[in-house]
Amino acid sequence: MSFDDMEIQGLIKKYGDDSFLDYCRMFRLDKIFVKAQGMLLWDSQGKIYRDFLGGYGCLNLGHEHPAVIKALRDVEGMPNMAQFGLNPFQAQLSQMLASISPSGLTRSVFTNSGAETAEAAIKTACAFTGREMIAYAVGAYHGKTLGALAITDNYFYRSPFKSAASFSSQVAFNDVTALERALKKRTFAAFIVEPIQGEGGISIPGPDYLRVACDLCKKYGTIFILDEIQTGLGRTGRMFCADHFFVSPDILLISKSLSGGAVPIGAMMMTEKIWQKVYAGVRNCGLTLSTFGGNTRACACAIAAIEVIRSENLSKNAEIMGERLINGLREIAENVSWIKDVRGSGLMIGIEINIPFGRRVGSLIASSLCAYFLDNYGIILGVCLNNRMVVRVEPPLVISNDDVEYFLVAFREFCARYKNLGMLGVLAKKFVVNYVNNRRINAVS
Ligand code: PLP
Repeated sequence: MSFDDMEIQGLIKKYGDDSFLDYCRMFRLDKIFVKAQGMLLWDSQGKIYRDFLGGYGCLNLGHEHPAVIKALRDVEGMPNMAQFGLNPFQAQLSQMLASISPSGLTRSVFTNSGAETAEAAIKTACAFTGREMIAYAVGAYHGKTLGALAITDNYFYRSPFKSAASFSSQVAFNDVTALERALKKRTFAAFIVEPIQGEGGISIPGPDYLRVACDLCKKYGTIFILDEIQTGLGRTGRMFCADHFFVSPDILLISKSLSGGAVPIGAMMMTEKIWQKVYAGVRNCGLTLSTFGGNTRACACAIAAIEVIRSENLSKNAEIMGERLINGLREIAENVSWIKDVRGSGLMIGIEINIPFGRRVGSLIASSLCAYFLDNYGIILGVCLNNRMVVRVEPPLVISNDDVEYFLVAFREFCARYKNLGMLGVLAKKFVVNYVNNRRINAVS
């Protein structure tokens, strides 16, 4: 398939999201990618890119994994939508999830996105406890639908929708004292938390935090929900990040990479006890049902994706390659004043920029760094949505040693060229000027 880049940009400008187009133009992302495989993407001009963003966490298997594509082909001709009957793929996927999940999570409900999965968990906790408040962590990201937004700590996304805060309350992340103070009131149906905050800036809690948080939830009759939508399915070097912390939540959420990035799907896994109280009985069987939830193609892809994660031992590869990346980046960072921290687990890595001029400038500089990497090294990177001063490095788990070396060589060269903040500022200014000029040209044409 071939596209005329300018024609497509014209269509977006007139009928589509022209703000996103402006953003893409500013940071040189105004490309059309026409082919992808594993770590690699090709744009319409034939240029090759290495993907170190991994679809914001939905490409643990890399682009277009053959086993997932085969799973899609294998179900050709079968009904994708026969919700009035029994779905064998959904049944098999439920069993598979029960077999890989942290202990005791035997039942699953299927959804179509991360935000929808978080919403389902909120509703389930409220139905189980009879309480209506949800506690969530400072820095958290659980999605952008109204319910998920209410438990997401991002002023910019939330401010136009003030009512979103009505049933939720924030507690400090990685602070069990603050959590106990909140839970003591016995008004919270659930405490929802990411084991490692992704959009919050790859924030890793202390080794005991999640276990103690889980115990506190039990003590005060609150459901403990672990959102593994970004951390799950091998990303941090274990099938679930919960496995690092030896914690068994009441509800665990996955989505993003569950189908290998092929089709939307999410799953809320829960204990038998929660299932029996909230979902058992004919009357309750449609409580969180949605038209596409658990459709044939999504479930078939998910089964194939989980088989690949296990058979190719992708968690182990994430652990090994992640360690090489983190160690390599830390060694480079030792001599670079604008890097505040390099942190991560497996292939969920953050590089925090140390900018004394406030978040807006920091965010601009981090985005400019990503744009430079795209232009000069063909490396796709991004920033964390709730903490834009952190550059995220989240490549597919199929990454090879050569890819890791390529990235480290590029990073070393970049740091040698842009030694200090002043030089980074000049780089950022170039992108701003580029943006302003583009707007001027567009206004005239
Ligand atoms: N939960 C976490 C931890 C996430 O990182 C995200 C997305 O980045 C979501 C929920 C929301 O997922 P979606 O964008 O599919 O709605």
